This record gives sequence, C-alpha cells and structure tokens, in this order.
Amino acid sequence: TITAAAAPIAFQRRLTETPISVETREHILADPSFGRYFTDHMIAIDWTADRGWHDARLQPYGPLTMDPASAVLHYGQEVFEGLKAFRHADGSIWTFRPEQNAARLQGSARRLALPELSTTDFLESLRVLVSADAAWVPSGAERSLYLRPFIIANETFIGVRPARVAAYYAIASPAGPYFEEGVKPVSIWVSTEFSRAGRGGTGAAKSGGNYASSLLPQNEAQSNGCAQVLFADAETGTRIDEVGSMNIFFLTRENVLVTPPASGSILEGITRDSVIQIARDRGLRVDERDVLIAELCDGMTSGEITEVFATGTAGVITPIAQLKSREGAWGSADAAVGDVTRELRDELTGIQRGHRADRHGWMWRL
Ligand code: PMP
Repeated sequence: TITAAAAPIAFQRRLTETPISVETREHILADPSFGRYFTDHMIAIDWTADRGWHDARLQPYGPLTMDPASAVLHYGQEVFEGLKAFRHADGSIWTFRPEQNAARLQGSARRLALPELSTTDFLESLRVLVSADAAWVPSGAERSLYLRPFIIANETFIGVRPARVAAYYAIASPAGPYFEEGVKPVSIWVSTEFSRAGRGGTGAAKSGGNYASSLLPQNEAQSNGCAQVLFADAETGTRIDEVGSMNIFFLTRENVLVTPPASGSILEGITRDSVIQIARDRGLRVDERDVLIAELCDGMTSGEITEVFATGTAGVITPIAQLKSREGAWGSADAAVGDVTRELRDELTGIQRGHRADRHGWMWRL
C-alpha cells in the first residue's frame, strides 16, 4: 500500500559551485519567455515501497541519470503540477493556493498508482527551492517564477505494474508575460475527431500522457490559426470539456457565468475554482453545468453569449474571441476583451501581485 509520510521530511542542502553568472541571470530575467531557462537548483526526494519518502534534498540543477528500463520511460507513470511564485513590491515572495496544488498532485498520484507526497513536504520543497533561488524570482507585472513539481516511476523493471521505486522533483523556470503585447483574445479549435479523456480515464489527473495525446489535435489547431484545442466529451462528442491546458467559461446576456462541471474528465483548475469564487464575491451567478458545443457556437453568433474566456496558471484568464472547427467559425477573431473578463483578470492578478485584498487567504508566503 502507498502511504504519505507521517513526519515532515528534513531537507539536505547542497548548493551549486557553478551558479549561472549574475549578468546571464539578469539577461534571462529581462526576457525569460516561458519554460526555456531553469534556475540553479532543484529538489529531489526518493521513494521506495519499503522506505517511503526519504533523502529529501536541494541539489544543483542538472540532468537525471536513469536506467533505460526505468518504468516511466515505457509506461508513462508520471504526474506533475504547475504554480507560480510572485515577487511583491516590498520584495517578499509568495505563491497562490499551493495547498491546492499539493492536494491535486496527491489525487493525480492516486490515479496513476504513484506514492502521494504530503502537503507539508510539498510546501516545504517549494520553500527550500525558492529560498535558494530567490534571485530568480522576477519582479514586475506579468512576471513570475514558474514552479514545476513532478513525480516519476523510477523502477528498473519492464512490466506493467505500479513501480516500487519513484522520485519527486521540483524545478523552477522564470516566466515573462504570457501576452507580449498585453492581453489578447485568441481563437480556439474545436476538435471533432480527437478526445482528451473518457469516462473512468485519467482526465482529472495531471499526467504527462494526457498532454502527449493532445499534441496531434494541437497541431491541427495551430495549422488552422488557433492557439489551443477545445475538447468535447468522449461519449457524445457534443458537450464541451476543456481547452488543452485551460478550463473554459462564458458569460450570458443575463450575466450568468457558465462553466462545465468537474465531471471527472476535466482537470479541475485552481484558477477555475478561484474565478468561480471571485465571480460570486462580485455578485455574479455562476452555473457549473453541461454545455453543448452548439450552445456555445450559436450563442457567440447570436449575442446570447457575450464573453468567453479560458483559465489556467500560465495565462491566468485568456479571452477567447473565436471558435473554429472543420464545420465553420463563430465569433470574430478581432473582438475586444470583454469587461467582465478584464475585471476578473485584474482582480485575480491583483491578489497574486499583492495589489488587491486577499480576502480568502489564498496567498502563501515562501
Ligand atoms: N486544464 C488542463 C488540462 C491543464 O493542464 C491546466 C493547467 N494546469 C488547467 C486546466 C488549468 O489549471 P490551473 O488553473 O490549476 O492551472
């Protein structure tokens, strides 16, 4: 059986002797783009079925050595998370609802038959990493340090069964503005051929395989001028599930915010949950209910739907101006960003940046 560690793990710290130079770091932080550069250190924690989690450490960032027969390379037994560290105006460093990422990683690990890391150890791993690499947390609007914790099966064994050896790592990558020229609405491709998740599948887990299977439809989206794919439910192909790496919302003319329910086949975004909360705080009605693709397309054409947006850690709130599929196009690619979309985005980024009151206690100081 797989159990979480009972007592918090103590982290050993081994600092790099060859940190990236200050000039190079400053150069990277001036224009970090996304996911391209990594900080000086990383976190590693080993797990075996006999010993549980052990050997927690901060170590110099660098390649992993693994056996070619490592289970993860063959059967994709892997889960991950994504969250950001923000530098506030006074220099302090914060993350947003990290205990939610810890809980989601535990849920993903359960589904993939991987060991669960306790929330305490998860949070401590981020604190240790970010305190060693604090100089890598950029300041300024729309800039952050993206944190990528993940767990892999790492047993040298070819055979389909849960691995008895695993490892947790956390790495960090400075991130610049998601939208270089300010928030810009995107077009989204409705995939009618491919599904992302079926009933009883792994759609609600954040596991690499879900993303591997999204790449072919993502190519189709890109060759049709769209930023991401909107997936429909696998059973009927008529209801909307979510976008490739974002959840989807729309606003009706009656000022009701609508999003598909957490059905087990969508990834329950932490941004999604926060947007629902903020919208309700602002007096909007929020309906979590099934939505037909046809309802969304027709509504965008008729004006019944006034704003559409997607939510996720990377882009926070991304306005959607247009839907396209093999059958046609709905909405207009050059539509302006809606007022509610902008207000919700300003509120959420304001909380994360420390400019707006954190009424729900979402910010966690690193
Ligand atoms: N759906 C998918 C498939 C995702 O990969 C993500 C990004 N983690 C999201 C939704 C949004 O989740 P969050 O708001 O927690 O980033």
